[in-house]
Amino acid sequence: MSTTDTMRVMWCERPGEVELRRLPIHPVGDDDVLVKVAYAAICPWDVRAFSGLSSVAFPRVLGHEVAGRVAAVGKNVKGLEIGQPVAPDMIIKCGVCKACRTGRSNRCRRPTFLQYGGGYADYVCVPQRNIHPIRPGVSLKAAAMMEPLACVLRGQEMLRLIPNEVALVIGLGPIGLMHLQVARAFGARVIASDPVAMRRDKAQALGAEWVVDPQTTDLAAFVQEVTDGWGVDAIALTVGAARMVEESVKLLAPGGRFNIFAGIYPKDQVHLDPNQIHYNEWIITGSADSTPENMHRALGLIESGKVQTETLISHLLPLEELATGFALVKNREGLKVVMEVNGEA
Ligand SMILES: [Zn+2]
Ligand SMILES: [Zn+2]
Repeated sequence: MSTTDTMRVMWCERPGEVELRRLPIHPVGDDDVLVKVAYAAICPWDVRAFSGLSSVAFPRVLGHEVAGRVAAVGKNVKGLEIGQPVAPDMIIKCGVCKACRTGRSNRCRRPTFLQYGGGYADYVCVPQRNIHPIRPGVSLKAAAMMEPLACVLRGQEMLRLIPNEVALVIGLGPIGLMHLQVARAFGARVIASDPVAMRRDKAQALGAEWVVDPQTTDLAAFVQEVTDGWGVDAIALTVGAARMVEESVKLLAPGGRFNIFAGIYPKDQVHLDPNQIHYNEWIITGSADSTPENMHRALGLIESGKVQTETLISHLLPLEELATGFALVKNREGLKVVMEVNGEA
């Protein structure tokens, strides 16, 4: 690959604007791996950033849910072959801060975000330590969802589910449908709640024991009925609404665990009764982003088929139609939107 080669890049000059540009392919440093992008999925965070609702700098190339193949390696890189399938972690953690040193690199104090190096482009370039090799034969469309599944897995691990416990998943977008599958993988029986029929059908197909339309069914009464008045052992709240925290925490059984998975914007407050937390021994958790360890385990769940991610794709669009993809996610149409950059080949 010569330095005069160019690549397609979906360039965001400022919030709300995206256009196709041809730019030079990233230079590959000695410790770097150049990845030819096969697929790059759209995350609601990408849409928030594109809409100017986050603090990230522009101009920018977005895209952090990526799978592809090794295209070139720096001279210090060992153990990776050209053409090998990989999923890059698109945030470079510093490796030395207190967060990184205590197993919480998802909260790294000095992370590097690749402002011009996002996944909505033919190539991305990251250090070798950010590369997660994918087992050959695994769908790259499925593997492109390693990052969101890693975030879900992090939240689910905080719920510490054991077999036969009952978990409630509120909100059945792509994230909720992944929570459902991870809870099932931990042996839990799952109540899945969402007002959209298509999402409930998907949840049922993916192993939910009960599905509920909270607009027509009193969720609290339903929980009481199916748990013999005990409550649910765990709740994953994937909907960003403070009111939902207040309403759903009451559905927990004694010893129940709660994960506030979604960020809540605009910012809001919750009112909780501390006596309820005290006497019921509830554990209220939050989780945000993911570590390389979460990513490694998430990829294992995809590779083993324990979590099906490809089935969550409702729209597969060519790279150039990124603006359409952003609009679909913004309007909550379908489920997961994935950009086909270079495809499986
Ligand atoms: Zn994401
Ligand atoms: Zn760090």
